[in-house]
Amino acid sequence: MTEREFAVECVRTLQNAGFRALWAGGCVRDELLGLEPNDYDIATDARPEQVQKLFRRTIAVGAAFGVIEVIGPRDPSRGGEHLTVEVATFRSDGTYSDGRRPDSVVFSSPEEDAARRDFTINGMFFDPIAGQLHDYVGGRADLDSHTLRAIGDPFARFAEDKLRVLRAVRIATRFHFGIDDDTFAAAKAMAPQITVVSPERIADELRKLLTHPNRAVGVWLLRDVGLIEPILPELVPEQPRWDRTAEMMESFRVGPNSFPLIFAALIHTVDRPAAEVIAERLRFSNAEKSRMSWLVENQRVLLDAPTMRPSALKPILVHPGIDELLALHRALARGQVAPHVEFCERVLQDTPREVLDPQPLLTGNDLKALGMRPGPDFKRLLDAVREAQLDGELRTRDDALARVRALSPGSG
Ligand code: ATP
Ligand code: MG
Repeated sequence: MTEREFAVECVRTLQNAGFRALWAGGCVRDELLGLEPNDYDIATDARPEQVQKLFRRTIAVGAAFGVIEVIGPRDPSRGGEHLTVEVATFRSDGTYSDGRRPDSVVFSSPEEDAARRDFTINGMFFDPIAGQLHDYVGGRADLDSHTLRAIGDPFARFAEDKLRVLRAVRIATRFHFGIDDDTFAAAKAMAPQITVVSPERIADELRKLLTHPNRAVGVWLLRDVGLIEPILPELVPEQPRWDRTAEMMESFRVGPNSFPLIFAALIHTVDRPAAEVIAERLRFSNAEKSRMSWLVENQRVLLDAPTMRPSALKPILVHPGIDELLALHRALARGQVAPHVEFCERVLQDTPREVLDPQPLLTGNDLKALGMRPGPDFKRLLDAVREAQLDGELRTRDDALARVRALSPGSG
């Protein structure tokens, strides 16, 4: 069974039990565009308890919002993971006093459920059994004219939930849609207030935006809507030269973990400490933070590759991020010849791995055997020996031990 078939089945089960049930939101939009939806969402007049009674396996994922996840059979095409569909009771959102989320929700009708959604193209329902579209917000016309338009009064809608400003950029980018003038003006007016939104939600939208193939359009929109200043104030001085940043965005092929690379390209003008501050502010994962700041740092360092000491260059060349670092440098060179990149590629090709990353001549145990205690000096000694090894000054264990004795007269 495919995810789609399972989503049809769930609608049928609900309808057969006498409830209204419709596909809702993003999946309707994607199907109308001929795209395969990421996931299917169902909206229904059944209450959460009623949904839970109708299906064998469910998880109340958003009990306060009436969202129940229905668990289906395993899907061999996805490593045996279970198919899932989210079933949410039609609802309208109460007031938004914090600019982020509704104070309360009340269960309601499909019309009202459409009205609480963000953009017209995201606000449609589809009955997969009857094959009928339910469009209360003019989403179909906007989809046909490639327009992103807020549902209702755009100022009010962006004021309710400021994340919608960034969602507007992300969704317009993804489909290459124009943003309706009133919607754009309201987004721009509200952009400075994006800072009330949690950094995690902002980062999630940025991840989706920057890893999308249309990301160059996206970074222009970020600037034009005025989101750079509140989200990435470090980049404000770059805005007059934004064409360079946008152009770089074109050059990356995107894989599953390319967010740190693309983000490093976006902020290529800042230094490593600033990159770390940004990563912490946006609550990047540790893996994202360390890869992204490593790239930012070595984006400068590697320019001197041909004249660098081997002990400085080799660790960079054997780092797991080296392919990304070279991709970043090629993007920075914008199609021009980049001698330092060519140099690195040549070294990587011509040098055996055991020369680039040889077995250490000494380990901590060797130093302990000499009667030394682990600590800052201990580490400094090991680092000095490693450096000399990579620079070709020390070739054997005896050389290394002699160096240790010379550096640390008290030992052995
Ligand atoms: P994607 O394919 O990226 O998942 P999506 O449109 O499904 O796109 P989701 O974030 O999964 O986006 O949201 C599902 C639906 O919920 C949207 O289509 C929209 O109708 C509604 N929605 C999501 N976020 C908001 C929001 N901040 N304000 C109002 N409605 C929202
Ligand atoms: Mg979705």
